[in-house]
Amino acid sequence: MVNNSSKRYVRLSGIVYESLVNGPGIRRVLFSQGCRHNCPGCFNPDTHSFDGGVEYELDSLVEDIMKNPLLKGVTFSGGDPFEQADKFAYIAEKVRKAGLNVWTYTGYTYEYILENANSRAGWSELLNATDVLVDGRFEKKLHREGLRFRGSSNQRIIDVKESLKCGKVVTLNFDI
Ligand code: SF4
Repeated sequence: MVNNSSKRYVRLSGIVYESLVNGPGIRRVLFSQGCRHNCPGCFNPDTHSFDGGVEYELDSLVEDIMKNPLLKGVTFSGGDPFEQADKFAYIAEKVRKAGLNVWTYTGYTYEYILENANSRAGWSELLNATDVLVDGRFEKKLHREGLRFRGSSNQRIIDVKESLKCGKVVTLNFDI
């Protein structure tokens, strides 16, 4: 009998195999299942339950990403990937070694993640394996046309490496 005990799984609400709207270039998007933020007006309420979705084996997800030469990067969206941070960090570290960039969406702020990075499982690893973090809860009243790669204007598109290096938030602007 094969022993599968070393396999690790992440719970996803869905996968988009080639997306052009979740970051620059053609991207694989993994939608995490499970979110605690309950933002009014959330577009993905089905992703909130921690019992929903489907479990996917981590190495299979990575292998499937590597098979597509068109991909420029991988995006973790949600749900909130930081609720399964150790699993997403594992995927991020593997795909970055293959030259892909990683965007992570979260309802937590960059500052909150930094404050809690050492006490929450995988938070430090996921932050460090993320190239660009889109942070903060969705605020319906701050939603407007022309925002690119974010749902409301309070959310920031953060260059993580530069921010960690400079000790302050460094943002990127893609708005139209
Ligand atoms: S963080 Fe995202 S998935 Fe979670 S409630 Fe807010 S908008 Fe919805």
